[in-house]
Amino acid sequence: MSEDAIRLESLRKTYKGRKGQPEKHALKGVDLNIPRGSVFGLLGPNGAGKSTLINILAGLVKKTSGRVSIWGFDQDENPRQSRASIGVMPQELNLDPFFTPRGALEVQAGLYGVPKADRYSDEILRMIGLEDKAEAYARTLSGGMRRRLLLGKALVHRPNILVLDEPTAGVDIELRQMLWDNIRKLNAQGMTIILTTHYLEEAEEMCDEIAIINQGSVVARDTTANMLGRLDGRAMVVHPASPVETLPQGPGIETELRPDGSVVLRYRSQVTTAEAVLETVRAAGISIRDVKTEEADLEDVFLSLTSSLG
Ligand code: ADP
Ligand code: MG
Repeated sequence: MSEDAIRLESLRKTYKGRKGQPEKHALKGVDLNIPRGSVFGLLGPNGAGKSTLINILAGLVKKTSGRVSIWGFDQDENPRQSRASIGVMPQELNLDPFFTPRGALEVQAGLYGVPKADRYSDEILRMIGLEDKAEAYARTLSGGMRRRLLLGKALVHRPNILVLDEPTAGVDIELRQMLWDNIRKLNAQGMTIILTTHYLEEAEEMCDEIAIINQGSVVARDTTANMLGRLDGRAMVVHPASPVETLPQGPGIETELRPDGSVVLRYRSQVTTAEAVLETVRAAGISIRDVKTEEADLEDVFLSLTSSLG
């Protein structure tokens, strides 16, 4: 269907094992279509295969088998057009230290065959907040500035699809906000956005739809609202006023005593209310000094989704 921005069929990637290592099945037959105009989140724990998938889209990693179609262009049959349709902000910082931001943008535009008259480096520099640093060597830029420059480089050929691989991993709140604002603006202008993350919160804030990938397979795919309903594991951590003698018990609640004397109560927010959990704590005679709730560990969530969905 031409309405899809991306279409993957039975996509597989097997890395050869390095010296004596077994081969690694990083993608095990991924079928996925990503609609045009969306902000689509690819969510999964470290090692799930997110970067492998992104790097195949970007043409940086060669797939083992399967079909990849980008903006309606088959990657094998129309490599030039499919490449022109997509811009990728990679996870790794891979900037040439001797280029200035302006130079890096111009070189990138040259690589994509963008004619001089169609280049818009000044506008990009303004958007990523690097106008003041336009002529500074990349090696003098901070980590945050380099990440912004990577975003700029992904945009030089005005791609229909922008892919961001863990755009906010390890960045400060200010930069995260700036990236999110930019992403929203670009999407409002019609650009399809695909981002990978292992932060549920980030997917929640940004994405219309989410696919969850674990160990090389897509294990779930849904609208963000529906997905969050499924990812409803919570943990309440109670710090008692005095040492706990009896652990609280209740239906749908798993309890654990931590070495620091606090009690962790795990439950699903759609099945059990926080009030009901607190009730079991009081019923066990525990007086509460402090309490907080945590979202369930994503690793656990991925595991349970993987096992429950086969
Ligand atoms: P993610 O981005 O979700 O963290 P990756 O796509 O980077 O996951 O990695 C998926 C799996 O493939 C991991 O087990 C990783 O160790 C392995 N892998 C990634 N790149 C290579 C490579 N060049 N050679 C061998 N194994 C690799
Ligand atoms: Mg990665």
